[in-house]
Amino acid sequence: MGKLTTLKSRLGTAGSRLATLTQRPGATPRLRGRAAVDRRERWLMEHPCCVECRKEGRVVAADVVDHTVPLWKGGPDDESNFQSLCQTPHHDEKSAREAAERAKAR
Ligand SMILES: [Zn+2]
Repeated sequence: MGKLTTLKSRLGTAGSRLATLTQRPGATPRLRGRAAVDRRERWLMEHPCCVECRKEGRVVAADVVDHTVPLWKGGPDDESNFQSLCQTPHHDEKSAREAAERAKAR
């Protein structure tokens, strides 16, 4: 269960970082707290592999529950918009792409 502790503390950091981002009009409010943690763990139990790695023919454990359409673009904060990703490279790459796109949209 050491692994779960690590994942939770990382999620805590991400949550406080995201809380400092300004909510833009049209962005979907994010579920937070215990309910969000439970939902994330349930999703990863059911969808344990990175979907992008699978497309490349590899089976890699996912680290991240990603919103396929980002919340800041109005993507829903529910399971219709979830995908499992590994942190590196796939979530890092997607985050970098979206940060660039978001910076341009300002
Ligand atoms: Zn991956």
